[in-house]
Amino acid sequence: MRKKPHTQVEQRLERLKAGARKAGVKLTHQRLEIFRELAAAEDHPDADALFRATQRRVPTVSVDTIYRTLWMLQELGLINTLGPDRGGVRFDANLEPHHHYLCLRCGLVRDFESADLSAIRLPEAVNALGSVADAHVEVRGVCAACRAGEAMGRAPRPTTGKRSTT
Ligand SMILES: [Zn+2]
Ligand SMILES: [Zn+2]
Repeated sequence: MRKKPHTQVEQRLERLKAGARKAGVKLTHQRLEIFRELAAAEDHPDADALFRATQRRVPTVSVDTIYRTLWMLQELGLINTLGPDRGGVRFDANLEPHHHYLCLRCGLVRDFESADLSAIRLPEAVNALGSVADAHVEVRGVCAACRAGEAMGRAPRPTTGKRSTT
């Protein structure tokens, strides 16, 4: 997983810890390590990616613990979820107003900020649909890495039949 700059990670971690403590959640070693991975992740990981990252430092952690911790944090309003999109729900420890860039090829998700987009005025019609907790813009496209891969050309696919070369 891509990692955030240190100070921002510490801030997010402190916020998760403070929120959990306030809700009476015991800060076990495993939970703290999951919080730490989540706070450091820049790529909106899904539960599986978080499991693999946490397991490197806490070999005894289970997928079940990861899921329970994530949904606990989500219920406490300490993290957000994205999707459900392809590949399942993803988790976001960034609660500052921000927007998302999503790659349609590889599923990469990155945050970006825009005062203009954050000040967006929703049409009246939205109120008729229900209450609004937050709104953000999702920009979709093909990321730079995927485009670079395309430019280099795909590796030739193995074929069962024989093909003559020109
Ligand atoms: Zn991509
Ligand atoms: Zn985000």
